[in-house]
Amino acid sequence: MTRSASPREKTPLEERLISLIKSRGPISIADYMADALFHPHDGYYTSQTPIGAKGDFTTSPEISQIFGELIGAWLVQSWEDIGAPKSFNLVELGPGRGALMQDALRAARLRPVFLDAARIWLVEMSGRLRHEQRRRLKIAGIAPEWADSFADVPAAPTLLVANEFFDCLPIRQFVRTETGWRERLVGVEAGHLAFTTATVPPPPSVTLPDKASARIGDIFEINEPAESLIEAIAQAFVAQSGRALIIDYGHVHSGFGDTLQSVRSHAHWPALASPGKADITAHVNFDRLLARAFAAGAAAHGPVAQGAFLERLGIAARLERLSAGKSAEEVADLFAGAHRISSPTQMGELFKALCVSSPGLNAPAGFEA
Ligand code: SAH
Repeated sequence: MTRSASPREKTPLEERLISLIKSRGPISIADYMADALFHPHDGYYTSQTPIGAKGDFTTSPEISQIFGELIGAWLVQSWEDIGAPKSFNLVELGPGRGALMQDALRAARLRPVFLDAARIWLVEMSGRLRHEQRRRLKIAGIAPEWADSFADVPAAPTLLVANEFFDCLPIRQFVRTETGWRERLVGVEAGHLAFTTATVPPPPSVTLPDKASARIGDIFEINEPAESLIEAIAQAFVAQSGRALIIDYGHVHSGFGDTLQSVRSHAHWPALASPGKADITAHVNFDRLLARAFAAGAAAHGPVAQGAFLERLGIAARLERLSAGKSAEEVADLFAGAHRISSPTQMGELFKALCVSSPGLNAPAGFEA
């Protein structure tokens, strides 16, 4: 595996980025992230096996089947809330290995009319992961359709779910210098990729906090693709009924800080080392997503901590039901998985759920005050 890899080892993508930067100058962190994750040949998601014990990180649906099952029940409830349309899109953004959708649809079998009405869309850029999703869902008798982006999914009443998708979307960073905000860029130093700072101020189209509110060295992050996507989802839900559940790690309030992070083989990794061989993400700024959803005329709820959300959806009762008749070892595994996804010291607090809805619907399950 990659455990013995060294951050000084150059990947083909790094070589190419270095020569590009040497000829054209430093690039934005967003351009770096987009290439590192989705370069057609050497991007991380296009060329690696990211998720699971053999990959670099694991996620809630991979840890516990209960995660997807509770979301399946949430989706059925939400379908009722949007008026139980006879035909609707069930969209997942970034389905990874397909575990969430598989578990959610198994739980939804209790309402066959829901399954009959659902047209399943998976928004996925990686051919490798599409292949895995097809395989996994075929076993469950499900034939989804794929799209490259949410914009490519045909308009219809929609339920949408996204777990650990928004954290992959490319951020830009701005650093407060003596003279004001400057974009933080990726350049080359001593033959390796290194952070640098733009010499000129960003254009006025970039909205940044008042420079007096920041100290020298403070970093402010903007995720334009994430904000545009929330806006597109909100607009779709104003035009037609819909509801989205977005779960990710991040902060509730906008603030200053560098949240760019990379992992390889389940351990932290320097963000500019071995692009294409390590995952690279940033925290989601829920404040800004909420503001964008409201501005587009949608309703939005949360964020609520993942642990509280799963408790309200009945994780304890589901755990009891699943444990009945199981061996002591199986029960211990079920409890360990549930603990990991819901405990505040593990994934229960840092991860948060946000709901965006058509205006005027019932309050969504799990978001009660
Ligand atoms: N939801 C899954 C996987 C999370 S990893 C889970 O919880 O296990 C992120 C997923 O989003 C991967 O499937 C990745 O290929 C996909 N992805 C990331 N950015 C994307 C983009 N811009 N367009 C389409 N898919 C993307």
